[in-house]
Amino acid sequence: MYEFLIVGSGLFGAVFAHQAKQQNKRCLVIEKRSHLGGNVYCEKVEGINVHKYGAHIFHTNNKEVWDFVNNLVPFNRYTNSPIANYHGKLYNLPFNMNTFYQMWGVTTPEAAKAKIEEQKAEAVAKMKAESVTEPRNLEEQGLCLVGKDIFEKLIKEYTEKQWGRTCNELPAFIIKRLPVRLVFDNNYFNDAYQGIPIGGYNKLIDALLRNIDCKTNTDFFNSEYRDWRKYAKQLVYTGPLDEYFDFRYGKLDWRTVSFKTRIEDTPNYQGNAVVNYTSHEVPYTRIIEHKHFEMFGSAVYDCQKTVISEEYSTEYTEGKEPYYPVNDEKNNRLAQKYRELADKEVNVIFGGRLAEYKYYDMAPVVEKVISMF
Ligand code: FAD
Ligand code: UDP
Repeated sequence: MYEFLIVGSGLFGAVFAHQAKQQNKRCLVIEKRSHLGGNVYCEKVEGINVHKYGAHIFHTNNKEVWDFVNNLVPFNRYTNSPIANYHGKLYNLPFNMNTFYQMWGVTTPEAAKAKIEEQKAEAVAKMKAESVTEPRNLEEQGLCLVGKDIFEKLIKEYTEKQWGRTCNELPAFIIKRLPVRLVFDNNYFNDAYQGIPIGGYNKLIDALLRNIDCKTNTDFFNSEYRDWRKYAKQLVYTGPLDEYFDFRYGKLDWRTVSFKTRIEDTPNYQGNAVVNYTSHEVPYTRIIEHKHFEMFGSAVYDCQKTVISEEYSTEYTEGKEPYYPVNDEKNNRLAQKYRELADKEVNVIFGGRLAEYKYYDMAPVVEKVISMF
């Protein structure tokens, strides 16, 4: 008899199993995929760790979380600084003095500030005329944040490609988290700590699940474990919330991404891990060159080939990977109904991105599980 049967070996399930083991509680982890690790899993191709389910960069302000993961596997000094490509011209992201120089030729923060004010004047005046105080949608938010040129070249078409909807139909909060800086700083995140586990994410998962019973290729719903009380005192469920309840109230919507991954016969394809293609003329949103997450300086050239992934934003349909919850009103209401059912389940913990129907970065998942113990 186990204390916990854990459904799903992603970060939530793996950290939970690790913490339970520290308290001498026996766990069994079951995973429907053929490998452990959920979406942080990497596949080794040409000696490069390929982020099979999308690029993952660990970042946090929480020292306890940072120390926790670094005690399992040390992290490298990778700093995310994506490049935007619009009609062949390159711009630094997030929006900072480098971007403003590339866009307008301004060389001082004062000149950049004046240019942004000038660029956003039209949108601000329009909102004022309509007695609107807060941006009502992503278009207004973008225009008020950085003005017309940047909105049109670096935000509008990229966002519409990514979300499949026009910017004036999308909520403002989506781009609120993008930093706008009057300093020459291309670091995409404001957090104190960021990096990639040295040797890749699989090392982190291996360390978390060391000496814990795990079964892959085992779907909770199509296995003997559906009758989990025979095997464990408590269930930790990290699969989709609606599926647990057999879609009783209907299905939740998800957003998904598909990847076209290929090997290129060059050691350095684009010189950066992430290049965003912000024009709608290019069908994919970005290209990831995986080696740059873990290889720096001459190491880039020690590895003769490279692996790149084109990322396409697509509608979720059955059989695809459910990646991001669609937190619009309709889906939030439906998720809430399922959460009320979940609250009534005895000895069942619902956790993680799928079971909570919540957009979670990795660090908050780790933080949440640590706090549960
Ligand atoms: P998951 O990793 O999805 O794990 C759930 C597991 O449960 C899966 O392995 C699944 O196969 C398994 N499962 C589901 N149903 C069943 C069943 N019936 N039986 C058995 N097993 C089942 N976060 C960051 O901090 N930085 C980033 O750069 C970043 N980039 C991301 C990019 C993409 C494309 C995506 C989708 C997410 C990204 N994230 C990022 C978020 C990060 O992936 C999550 O925070 C983290 O993976 C959550 O872990 P989880 O355990 O909740 O979910
Ligand atoms: N965004 C954009 N241009 C870019 C990068 C991002 O307009 O080059 C917008 C886009 O709307 C996106 C949002 O900013 O959905 C948040 O981007 P981020 O990279 O933080 O989110 P992710 O795509 O990783 O969820």
